[in-house]
Amino acid sequence: MNNLAEKLAASIRDIKDFPKEGIVFKDITPVLKNMALIGEIMDFFTDKTRGFKIDKIVGIESRGFIFGMPLAVKMNVPFIPIRKKGKLPAETVSASYTLEYGVSELEIHKDAISKGENVLIVDDLLATGGTINAAEELIVKLGGKPVCAVFLLELSFLKGRENIKNKKLEVISIAKY
Ligand code: AMP
Repeated sequence: MNNLAEKLAASIRDIKDFPKEGIVFKDITPVLKNMALIGEIMDFFTDKTRGFKIDKIVGIESRGFIFGMPLAVKMNVPFIPIRKKGKLPAETVSASYTLEYGVSELEIHKDAISKGENVLIVDDLLATGGTINAAEELIVKLGGKPVCAVFLLELSFLKGRENIKNKKLEVISIAKY
């Protein structure tokens, strides 16, 4: 692991059996107390995605909002929220997906992305890849083009990277387990 990955991993708190038995939950809240580390994470994502022309940054509820919005400010790109079913007030499209610990449905506002726009997706953690596939489905439904996805953490043993349907998607993560 590189220096940033080690620093990040050291700030992650493992919570056993949350939200249900057998899951080791990666709690990112200690990271939020360390603004220097947040700054380094934002720099890392900006550097790694510099080669892409990004029109929209999509954050996935809720930890994707925490890291997606500062990245959008730094990159000066509009931020779009993808939320759990029933939370977005205007007209939406939706996609269902399977989590490491359950089934859920995600939504995006219909007017959030225009045809042909390049989209960067942000979430805190890549587990089985179900969430990212649902997010991609939503972006594609609106005519957008998901070009890269960035995560702080990747649970490599769950093979999420291999489960991502769009093989052209550039997948970037900092600390891998
Ligand atoms: P997945 O769809 O399986 O790739 O799961 C990724 C989503 O679920 C992300 O939004 C994560 O925040 C959350 N998630 C899944 N597993 C964990 C875990 N062990 N610790 C923390 N968050 C998790």
